[in-house]
Amino acid sequence: MAHRVRTLVDMESQLTLSDGERRGFASSDLPAVAVTPYYLSLMDPRDARCPIRQQALPHPDDGRRGAGERTDPLGERGRMPVPGLIHRYPDRVVLLVAADCPVLCRHCNRRRRSPDELLGGSTGLDEALRYLRGAPQVREVILSGGDPLTLDDATLERILGRLRAIEHIEILRVHTRAPVTCPMRITDDLTRVLDAARPLYVLTQFNHPREVTPEAAAACARLVDAGLPMANQSVLLRGINSDIAILTALSRALLRTRVRPYYLFQLDPVVGSERFRTPVAAGLELVARLRGRVSGLSIPTFALDAPGGFGKVAVAPQGIVSTSPGEVRVQTWQGEIVAYPDTGDADLSCLEWPRK
Ligand SMILES: *Cc1c(COP(=O)(O)O)cnc(C)c1O
Repeated sequence: MAHRVRTLVDMESQLTLSDGERRGFASSDLPAVAVTPYYLSLMDPRDARCPIRQQALPHPDDGRRGAGERTDPLGERGRMPVPGLIHRYPDRVVLLVAADCPVLCRHCNRRRRSPDELLGGSTGLDEALRYLRGAPQVREVILSGGDPLTLDDATLERILGRLRAIEHIEILRVHTRAPVTCPMRITDDLTRVLDAARPLYVLTQFNHPREVTPEAAAACARLVDAGLPMANQSVLLRGINSDIAILTALSRALLRTRVRPYYLFQLDPVVGSERFRTPVAAGLELVARLRGRVSGLSIPTFALDAPGGFGKVAVAPQGIVSTSPGEVRVQTWQGEIVAYPDTGDADLSCLEWPRK
C-alpha cells in the first residue's frame, strides 16, 4: 500500500504511456489513481489496451457523463438508515468500513468515495451496531467499502467480533479485491482473524484470466484451505473481458482456484464509465454461450442493479421460448428448440403443503 504508484511521473518511469493515459493524469477533476506494485507488474508496459492496465489507468473520458449515468447509480445514499450502512433487502446489509482500496478501479461504482457515507470511526460502528441489534430480520452482514482488507487485522478482528456478538447475525461476508490487486495482504494472521468469525464468505472480483496469477491463486488457497468459501463477482467491461474466449478462460481458472463464479455484472451506469459499457444483450449472449462450453459450476448469474436502489435483477438468456397447455418449448445450449412435457397442476397448488 505504501509503495502504490499514484502520479504521472512515477507511472511514466514504469510504463510507456499512451496519449490518452497522459491526458487522463493531466485532467484534474478525475478520480484519483493508485496502483500496487504487484498489480502494476501484471501490466503490459507498452500496450495501453492491456486488460489490467485499462482497469487502473486514467483516461480523459473518466470525467464525461454518458447517457443515464449518475454519481450514485445504485441510490445507496437514500438507503442508509445510519451513515455507512446500506439496508436494501430485508435480511442483509452492507457496511462501508473502509475508504481506500489497494487499486482504485476506473470502473468503480462507488468512485464518489464520499467520506460522509462511511462508517465514521468507532462511534460510527457503535451506531451501526445499535441499528443492527434493533433489526432482527438481518441475518447477513457484508463488509465493503473501499476495501475492508485495507484495515489492519486488529481493527477487522474488533469489527467482526462485535458483529458476531449479535445473535441474529448468522452470515458474514467480506467483499474485497485484495486477492486480485494485493494478494500478499492475505497472510496467515489475516486468515485466522477471518476464520474466527465463521461462517464467513470472501467475495472477490477477478475480471480477467491474466489476474489469476500463481500469487493470487495462492492467496485464494490460503483462504479456502482455512475453511473460508470464496466466490467471484466479475464486472463485464468492454474491451477487457467482453469476449467469450476470455470469459471461458476466466471461468475455468476460477474453478481451478476453487473460487466459484457467482455474478457477472452489467456495468452500473456510474458517471464516466461509458468507455467500458456493453449493451445488456451482449452479456446475455455471453452467458448463453458459456453454457455448454464450461462446467455449470463455473457459470455466473448475469445481473444488473436497478437504478435508484431497487436491487439486483438476474437477467437470463431465454430458456423457455413458448408455453402451451401440457408443454413448454425450450431452447438448448446449441440453439435447438425442443418440446418438454409440462404436466402437473396448472394452478401451482404444488407450491403449498397440504394444510389440514
Ligand atoms: C449486492 C447487495 C447485497 C447482496 O446481494 P446478493 O444478491 O445477496 O449478493 C446486499 N445489499 C446491497 C445493498 C447490495 O447492493
